[in-house]
Amino acid sequence: LRVEANHPYMVHIGAGAFDLFANAYRPLLDNADRIVVIVDKQVAELHLPYLLAHLTDWDVRVLTIPAGESAKSVETFMACHSFLLSENCSRASLLLAFGGGATGDVAGFVASTFMRGISFIQLPTTILAHDSAVGGKTAINHKLGKNMIGTFYQPKAVLYDSKLLATLPVQEVRSGMAEVIKHAFISNEEWLNELLAIENFKDMTEDDLNRHLEKGIAVKAAIVEEDEFEGGIRKYLNFGHTLAHALEGHLGYGKLTHGEAVVLGMSYALLLSEHSKLAGFIRWSSTNGYPLHLLQEIHFEALLPYMKKDKKSSRGTLNFVLLERTGKPFVEQIEEQHARATYEKLVL
Ligand code: NAD
Ligand code: ZN
Repeated sequence: LRVEANHPYMVHIGAGAFDLFANAYRPLLDNADRIVVIVDKQVAELHLPYLLAHLTDWDVRVLTIPAGESAKSVETFMACHSFLLSENCSRASLLLAFGGGATGDVAGFVASTFMRGISFIQLPTTILAHDSAVGGKTAINHKLGKNMIGTFYQPKAVLYDSKLLATLPVQEVRSGMAEVIKHAFISNEEWLNELLAIENFKDMTEDDLNRHLEKGIAVKAAIVEEDEFEGGIRKYLNFGHTLAHALEGHLGYGKLTHGEAVVLGMSYALLLSEHSKLAGFIRWSSTNGYPLHLLQEIHFEALLPYMKKDKKSSRGTLNFVLLERTGKPFVEQIEEQHARATYEKLVL
């Protein structure tokens, strides 16, 4: 799968993606004066030997960073730069980002800023990262806001070895599948129906999952190709995200996963859209264990200030990505009154 961004690159999905180090990407590795792996602590414990077994032809240095979201900090960012400097890295060095979206975001930001930018390859290890590894957004968090410090910077390639996904905890599978179904909602009814038929993510074969990831990446890539710097249609990728970000802000990060928040946000956006799939989606969400009950426990007023701060909103109005129908997203300004009344109707 090829992503035609400003700097085009390939996404390779499937067991065996790492074999490409010694094949297609050998020149890139051979030409690097240093190769540094930045790896999530949890992923290092589970999968670092597997990665290193594919890199035995090179002298690779490894830096382990905290697992998950806590890595997206100034401290980790600086620790990465210190490591690159202490290893005498230069503009000709290559960075490998090995972990979920959090690792990809911080390591990508490091790659984009070290000596004004060095090459990097994304090695995503979560389902959610099918979303984050494509599109070239990098970021760390500021205490006043998530992803507030970052760059647009494309990797040289994405090698997505699906074998690594087998160790994901169920909550992370849920989180990632939320973004997969989001990509279906904004693109393709037939694919959406196939996903809605899944009653237990464990029933998916590795081939099924690879196919869904590939489709999700294709949707994301097509949108990013047209709108790399988020001037227009890239906003559609925020389907479900206005409420999701508010829930994450209100509850504090870490209480529920990003994808879980997005599922709650999509159910709200579907109700605002008067979309025919709402009932089916709610059924799907509850059989697959998404915490829909939270919407009963959290008042609209607690979420409103966060929704007003959303990047899509301007001057205190509420903006949502809605669906005219499956595959037909649009951005709509919603009156506060209507938003409140609809939220209160969302009895799940
Ligand atoms: P994550 O990177 O925090 O990983 C989630 C958890 O799973 C972590 O505890 C991690 O240690 C663990 N893990 C990772 N791979 C594993 C594996 N193979 N087996 C077992 N455990 C594993 O979370 P994520 O959901 O991958 O990504 C979320 C992050 O991505 C957020 O910070 C979000 O802002 C960012 N994001 C970025 C973009 C973008 O365009 N750049 C898009 C969407 C999300
Ligand atoms: Zn998201």
